[in-house]
Amino acid sequence: MAREPFNRASPERISPGDPVRTCIGCRQRASKRELLRVTAGSDTHGHPAVVPDPDGTAPGRGAHLHPTAECYELAVRRKAFARALRQQSGAGGGLSSAPVQAWLDSQP
Ligand SMILES: [Zn+2]
Repeated sequence: MAREPFNRASPERISPGDPVRTCIGCRQRASKRELLRVTAGSDTHGHPAVVPDPDGTAPGRGAHLHPTAECYELAVRRKAFARALRQQSGAGGGLSSAPVQAWLDSQP
């Protein structure tokens, strides 16, 4: 029977009451305000796609991601968008995340 040490990891710099979400890229938890919300929507051609929701106002299921190229790439490699948004889009995740990449590219 292993006794669990009461080991507190370095305290996070998250103020109490701040909503915390997990980044689907790096899997780190962060304040919701630091993350970009994405939802399942459609691209400019009407195809199913992951679209950024920087205001956090779009209805439906959302996922959260650090607005960085690193976390975006991780999420793409893990197919985390499709998993997080529960998209059963036929041939194993045909959900395009190009709109998110375009949004990231447009950021300063
Ligand atoms: Zn991240």
